[in-house]
Formats: sequence, C-alpha cells, structure tokens
Amino acid sequence: MNETSAGERGVALITGGTRGIGRATVLRLARDGHDVAFCYASRPDAAVELEKEVSELGVRVYSRQTDVSDPDAVRALVAETEERLGTVGTVVTSAGIVRDQPLLMMSDDDWQRVQRVNLDGTYHLCRSVVFEMMKRKSGCIVNISSVAGVYGNATQSNYSASKAGIIGFTKALAKEVGRYGIRANAIAPGFIDTDMTSALPDKVREQAVKTIPLRRLGRPEEVADMVSYLVGAEYVTGAVLQIDGGLVV
Ligand code: NAP
Repeated sequence: MNETSAGERGVALITGGTRGIGRATVLRLARDGHDVAFCYASRPDAAVELEKEVSELGVRVYSRQTDVSDPDAVRALVAETEERLGTVGTVVTSAGIVRDQPLLMMSDDDWQRVQRVNLDGTYHLCRSVVFEMMKRKSGCIVNISSVAGVYGNATQSNYSASKAGIIGFTKALAKEVGRYGIRANAIAPGFIDTDMTSALPDKVREQAVKTIPLRRLGRPEEVADMVSYLVGAEYVTGAVLQIDGGLVV
C-alpha cells in the first residue's frame, strides 16, 4: 500500500463478499494490507472458508450474515465491524442480484427486490459510514454498478434502473462529501465470469462473448484490481470506470 498505513486508512468493508467480484475484492484488499470485513446473504460456510484464507494473508478479518436491504442489519454490520476491527475507511458495495424478465412478465416483487438489494443496499451502507468518514475527513466509497446501468439491457429494466440509480447516487455523493476528503466512485463491469453470469443459458453466454471485442468474459480479479486502483487514486472522485472488454465503446 502506498504511503498511508492500513490503520490510517481504516478497515475495508465489502458487501457480497462471499462470491464473485466481492470475494475477489476481499482478497485483493487484504493483499493490499487492509483489515477487511465483509457480509453475505446466505452462505456461512463460504464466509468461514474466506475468513481463513484472508487470515493467512496476515490481516484481520470479520464477516457477518447481513441482508443489505435491511437498514438495521447494515447499521449492525458497521457497528460490529468497528467494534472488532476499527473505523471503516473504505466501503465496496458489491452485493447484488438479478431477476431478469421482459417488462410485461415482471412481477412487482421482481422489480422491488432488485431495487431493495442493489440500490437501497448501496444507500444503506454509504449512509451508515459517511458521518464517521466526515469526522475523520477521509474515506473511499466504491459502488459496483454495471454497463446495464449506463446503456440499459433488454429484459433487465429492473436491474438497469437499480444500477443507473447507483451511478446517480455515487455522483451526487462525490459532489456532496468531496470537501470532507471522501471520494465516491462507481465501477461498471460488463460480463464477468461469476455465478451471476454462469446462471445464464450457454447460448446467451456464447452470444455475449461474440459481441465482446476481447472475446472473453472478464475475471472477478480484474474488477478487484480496479477497486484497488480506486482505493489508492487520491484525485479520482465521481468517476464511473467501465471494465467490459470493449463491449460498449
Ligand atoms: P454473485 O457471484 O452472484 O455474488 C453475489 C454476492 O452478493 C454473494 O456474496 C451474495 O451472498 C451477495 N448477496 C446477494 N444478495 C445479498 C443481500 N441481500 N445482502 C447481502 N449480500 C447479498 O455476483 P457477482 O457477479 O460477483 O456480482 C457482484 C456485483 O457486481 C453485483 O452488484 C452485480 O450486479 C455486479 N455486476 C456483475 C456483473 C457480472 O457479469 N457478474 C456485471 C456487472 C455488474 P451469498 O453468497 O450469501 O448469496
């Protein structure tokens, strides 16, 4: 890590840490020297395994089952993280879900659940940490959006709206809290090889690869590299960094 120590930067707290982009980010930030906390929805076994892997890297780690759509649970996650590891200096909101349907087939629950987890979850975590960051005059927020939030995707109106909301939220936050030394940026990945995309039919994945100039899906570790860059990028705020193999140019 450059110049500042892990203690000065505070703990890195990652939502959706047990799988995919969140998991790769937990490991990357731990390798960068951060103490890390993470939450997950439903898989304590995966959390225990990851905690072990992180501990072996020589940093402290804490995890907690937390539904990010529940504001009280998110407040408890932050409070317990601070009690066990110290002040949160970096947050990465990676918890996210899809419930794809053409609009005509979409249920109210498909719409609302995606907003509650993806957009409200991002708000709940940022809302829970921002006051302490303002007091410390330092903080780094990285929200995981999607190219769907920039360009829209057919059959993903719920998901695209939630991810576009994250971009608007992040830009507003960057303007609001920059004077307190807090940076807020978003990452917009294209197709990344995780459980989220492996759930797609093979035909859809094959078709997707044909439309990507680099002719492959991205790796979660490549997104985690971008998170790590943003954590260290002291003059970058309000940015939306795309990582999509050239899918949308
Ligand atoms: P993933 O492999 O499906 O993993 C999702 C993670 O989020 C899991 O750790 C899951 O926990 C957690 N999670 C789900 N609902 C949650 C909730 N209500 N509260 C707390 N945690 C919850 O997803 P991914 O592909 O890594 O995606 C990570 C982020 O990147 C998401 O925001 C996604 O929208 C975004 N993204 C992904 C892609 C892609 O191609 N993969 C592209 C663009 C953007 P459990 O394991 O306990 O279920």
